[in-house]
Amino acid sequence: MIGQMMQMPLTVGSLIEHAARFHTNTPIVSVETAGGIDRSSWGAIGLNARRLASALRQLGVNDGDRCATIAWNNRRHLEIYFGVAGEGMVCHTINPRLAPEQLIFIANDAQDQVLFLDQTFLPAVVKLRPHLSSVKHFIVMGARDDEAAQMLDGVLFYDELIETGNPDHPFTHVDENTASSLCYTSGTTGDPKGVLYSHRSTLLHTLAGNQPDGIAIAAKDTVLPVVPMFHVNAWGVPYIAAAVGCKLVLPGPGMDGDSLVKLIDSEAVTLSLGVPTIWLGLLAALKNSGSKAASLQRTIVGGSALPPSMIATFRDEYDVELIHAWGMTETSPLGTLNQLLQHHSDLTADEQATIRNGQGRPLFGVDLRLINEAGDILPHDGKTQGDLQIKGHWIVERYFGMPSDTVTSDGWFDTGDVASIDTDGYLIIRDRSKDIIKSGGEWISTVTLENILVSHPDITNAAAIAARHEKWDERPVMLAVQREGATTTEEALLAFYDGKVPKWQVPDKIVFIDELPIGGTGKVQKNKLREVYGDILITE
Ligand code: AMP
Repeated sequence: MIGQMMQMPLTVGSLIEHAARFHTNTPIVSVETAGGIDRSSWGAIGLNARRLASALRQLGVNDGDRCATIAWNNRRHLEIYFGVAGEGMVCHTINPRLAPEQLIFIANDAQDQVLFLDQTFLPAVVKLRPHLSSVKHFIVMGARDDEAAQMLDGVLFYDELIETGNPDHPFTHVDENTASSLCYTSGTTGDPKGVLYSHRSTLLHTLAGNQPDGIAIAAKDTVLPVVPMFHVNAWGVPYIAAAVGCKLVLPGPGMDGDSLVKLIDSEAVTLSLGVPTIWLGLLAALKNSGSKAASLQRTIVGGSALPPSMIATFRDEYDVELIHAWGMTETSPLGTLNQLLQHHSDLTADEQATIRNGQGRPLFGVDLRLINEAGDILPHDGKTQGDLQIKGHWIVERYFGMPSDTVTSDGWFDTGDVASIDTDGYLIIRDRSKDIIKSGGEWISTVTLENILVSHPDITNAAAIAARHEKWDERPVMLAVQREGATTTEEALLAFYDGKVPKWQVPDKIVFIDELPIGGTGKVQKNKLREVYGDILITE
């Protein structure tokens, strides 16, 4: 027998409709890329999202067409999230910190039709333009600017464009199984891969991710997402914020500690989210400024491992609860969050902090398991380590444009992380079987760094590893084998990277060794190198 309740599609458009209708005057505060603060509201965001949707239709953009953004966290970016997806097009967020070749690869692979950009990225986009084969419309996210108009022939201006749109345009026709947004992840080998989220996966992620033991945002919160909106739909926060109608504070390009302290204090932020590097910057700035971040109640930290003393520092010096979370681009990203159980309430603060240092428990809607190399399922005893696999309503099944699924034959996605899980379901990430380096939350491809070094005439072999770093969490260190008789120096090799990768990707150190450890399958055993050299940037 079929149930007899209404069948309403789970769509991104329905989120903004709710926020605009029931939280009309709740403020959205946005630091503009050009400086200054823009004050808007859910009602105004909803109107502009509709205007944008209708204007894009008039430009000839069709259902499913990818509309890319290269932008910081700001009000127009939020409107694009909802206007594009609400209309059945796909909001493709691109990371501006990537090297030009990767930006070109990603935009062409996605076949982006539209590219929205913050004006500060205009010079970079002018250089990329001859290589962007599919983009028909470049839209600068601001008012008309004659200088910008001269730099990029045919460029449109967001503020003018939405004036041509209809503010009553309805978001009604979207099928919940169609794609709503796209984000690329970088692999250790090969090109970046696209993860194509659906309306349904996004809505289920929104609802489950905001449970009391999840992100738990309430309408009375003021939320500062420091995680960039070009990373995994900024951890679901734009959607959750619309669902609950909280005040949002979008920090623009200023993610340094001093700017964040000012924003937290001036806007009375209660909850903020970001990678550990951001919080190290914030803690340093709080100390310098003497601010106690009095309004701040909680911070959510994820994206890479938590530095050990961070929970205690936030708790003891600022009375802020720190919640550790784990996820990945392929998991939308929320997989686990760390909230305590009832039986932990008798533990001391330090015992509780030990549990909270781990990555936490799975949300309803995802399932986790550990397996060994033979594919056996391993026990959840808190000790046994295995490859972490995940499945659920918002987990990738197939990468964008790939011919086959990326999941195991029994339907699990292999995360590439090595982990243990205890009897209560608490996950601890022990290592990464994939070797990519994560510096301040941004990927650095080991393969790129190695290819550059081995192209140097004095080097025969090289391996890049992620070495622990106090500020950036991880930084690249190269282990290099020199050609016999060669006399090159570390300095000369570091200079060899100039112009070949963005400056922040240049390795911190190059160590010469006699040979690289090679395992049974002929691969360099990076875990062995990490064991020996993983702390070299901290101990020196
Ligand atoms: P991304 O796709 O950029 O979000 O990166 C996902 C990867 O980041 C995961 O597979 C983990 O290796 C790592 N990661 C994310 N969150 C955490 C965390 N809380 N602790 C340790 N590693 C993490």
